[in-house]
Amino acid sequence: MAKIAMKTPLVEMDGDEMTRIIWALIKERLIEPFVDLKTEYFDLGLAYRDATDDAVTVEAAEATLRLGVAVKCATITPNAARVEEYDLKQMWKSPNGTIRALLDGTVFRTPIPVAGIEPTVRTWEQPITIARHAYGDVYHNVELRIPGPGTADLVFHGADGSELRETIFAFEGPGVVQGTHNLDSSIESFARSCFEYALSTHQDLWFATKDTISKTYDHRFKDIFREIFEAEYAEAFNAAGIEYFYTLIDDAVARVMRSSGGFIWACKNYDGDVMSDMISSAFGSLAMMTSVLVSPAGVYEYEAAHGTVQRHYYRHLEGKPTSTNSVATIFAWSGALRKRAELDELPELAAFADALEQATLGTIEAGFMTGDLARITTLPDPVTLSTDEFIDAVAQRLADTLPAA
Ligand code: NAP
Ligand code: MG
Repeated sequence: MAKIAMKTPLVEMDGDEMTRIIWALIKERLIEPFVDLKTEYFDLGLAYRDATDDAVTVEAAEATLRLGVAVKCATITPNAARVEEYDLKQMWKSPNGTIRALLDGTVFRTPIPVAGIEPTVRTWEQPITIARHAYGDVYHNVELRIPGPGTADLVFHGADGSELRETIFAFEGPGVVQGTHNLDSSIESFARSCFEYALSTHQDLWFATKDTISKTYDHRFKDIFREIFEAEYAEAFNAAGIEYFYTLIDDAVARVMRSSGGFIWACKNYDGDVMSDMISSAFGSLAMMTSVLVSPAGVYEYEAAHGTVQRHYYRHLEGKPTSTNSVATIFAWSGALRKRAELDELPELAAFADALEQATLGTIEAGFMTGDLARITTLPDPVTLSTDEFIDAVAQRLADTLPAA
């Protein structure tokens, strides 16, 4: 049987440490035997980012804008210890931050459900996807410690010489004050990314803020979502049989806990930070969470939600066996291949992406898994496999369903 053909290459961003090891194994054992893989390769491993003064990260993001679909391995965000460890020229910025700034996207995180790893919340039958707005609010704040009596004002100096002014509070004693901001343009991009992703995954979209209390700031988010929905998406949602639903954040939290899942929950920056950790841990494991960056221009970048699994990598370097879960990285590849298949109309490639995911989940459901899952599974007598053995078990299962070329 001939290998499955591709038309347009994927943008491939290699990464660091244990996930770099897994990356090569997935390509060699799970994809290349079946697919005539076409990629434009960018090495985002820290050594090469340093050698190119981080130009490689920018080139990879530009290639993603050109080709439309990327798959990314986890990468090290350098701190002081990494500067020493890798003898870096400087403490390079987070590659994800650089890519996100160039693509102007929203990150969607979705748990990968599998029988035997049960969500803590009984009623959750399908995954809940968190869409987090990644700009502004308390993450770009300005704060003051108020030392004693006095008045704090909020003042805007217009470029045209106009002025807007409100008193925040007349302090009689010490306290604190904070200023935050957001941009219509950023909120609009966030809204469009969410509506696009809801349509492309055929799921309802929920959005919530505290607009009853924050009558100007949060209300602006609510209005922008409503205006864009009505002008650009209402018909398409109707035709697709999906719904856009707005409510207050506290009502949303209560409804999420009683829901059966299967929708996208768009969150403001802080809500998304907090709620995505709740959702991922309640669904079982960070190693069972996919992440996709969707730009308002409809460009997609797939990755795993976890990092480079540094502790396991050091064990690997010592020659000790590791049991690192490759599921989220496998699903980054299958997600990217499926999106490429959809854009290039390649049904065979789409079927391969499905088969790869089924083989991965089937392996776990048959009781063969890495240590992180073996510790939490409800399946009886799970068999704990090493990093290699798990990927080999998936390859075996895949070969049983799809004859290799
Ligand atoms: P991490 O790589 O996510 O790992 C934290 C811990 O979670 C691991 O030590 C391991 O626990 C467990 N874990 C995570 N993924 C796992 C997997 N696939 N299989 C099994 N266990 C898994 O986070 P980190 O150690 O804080 O960060 C390491 C590096 O990753 C940092 O340099 C950071 O900058 C980078 N990072 C990159 C990204 C990204 O590129 N998207 C995201 C986050 C962090 P046990 O050790 O207890 O087994
Ligand atoms: Mg957090």
